[in-house]
Amino acid sequence: MEYRIGLDLGSTAIKAVIVEGSEILWTGAVPTAPDQEALASDLIERGRGELGLPSGWSYMLASTGYGKSLFRKADLKLDELSANARGLFRLSGGEARSLINIGGQDLKTIRLSENGEVTDFRMNDKCAAGTGRFFELAARLLNVPLSGFAELSREPGEEVELNSTCVVFAESEIVSLLARGVPPQSVVRALHASVARRAAGLLGRVGAEAVWLDGGPAQNRGLVEAVEDELLTEVKVTPLPQYTVAYGAAVSLG
Ligand code: ADP
Repeated sequence: MEYRIGLDLGSTAIKAVIVEGSEILWTGAVPTAPDQEALASDLIERGRGELGLPSGWSYMLASTGYGKSLFRKADLKLDELSANARGLFRLSGGEARSLINIGGQDLKTIRLSENGEVTDFRMNDKCAAGTGRFFELAARLLNVPLSGFAELSREPGEEVELNSTCVVFAESEIVSLLARGVPPQSVVRALHASVARRAAGLLGRVGAEAVWLDGGPAQNRGLVEAVEDELLTEVKVTPLPQYTVAYGAAVSLG
């Protein structure tokens, strides 16, 4: 049996999925660092080992993400937008029409036809304020892991807003809120609302219908709920939102 591997060489994390048929057998990720080809090869080797497959296993591999060309042994190289649309459309059972992807360093919105084709998209990669990097910065300032943001955001505390549209100013805004004694949960809620506003703004231009959110930050339920509040509609998330792009690459192998 030939396996299919989707490799998403993202700005922040390298993600791999190993697929058999259309079923995801394994997923794994490592932080992006120099020598991405070696990192990706080690990641795939880890997957093979964890699945108990022999070293001579055979597979087809598709790479995507901003570093897709750095993995020279790929059978297919696919742009991120197509991979994202394909992966999410399949994983949503053909339901998704609007997609918000929040990556480490960019924010994208994609509009899909009823056949899953990309009919429109918008991207903001000029500003880090609506991206995963913004969350990482806030996590450091607050000294709270990203995995704790959703729970923290549900704790009572005063309502504040983050008004800066630039991540550098937002950083000083967070520092001064904390210095003023504003509790971390209020800052996290304000952060979710600010990213949600950006995502909704970008989506507004492609249309909000059957909305799904993916990318690493979609693991944060607090953010998902903030996007719902902003759009006044349900926002769905796949069980492994950081891997939809890699999955889309894998299933593009035919
Ligand atoms: P890229 O494809 O650009 O490398 P990803 O889609 O992999 O980006 O997302 C990376 C971002 O995901 C990180 O910057 C971080 O903000 C966020 N992230 C990673 N793990 C978690 C988590 N457990 N909860 C919330 N956010 C997370």
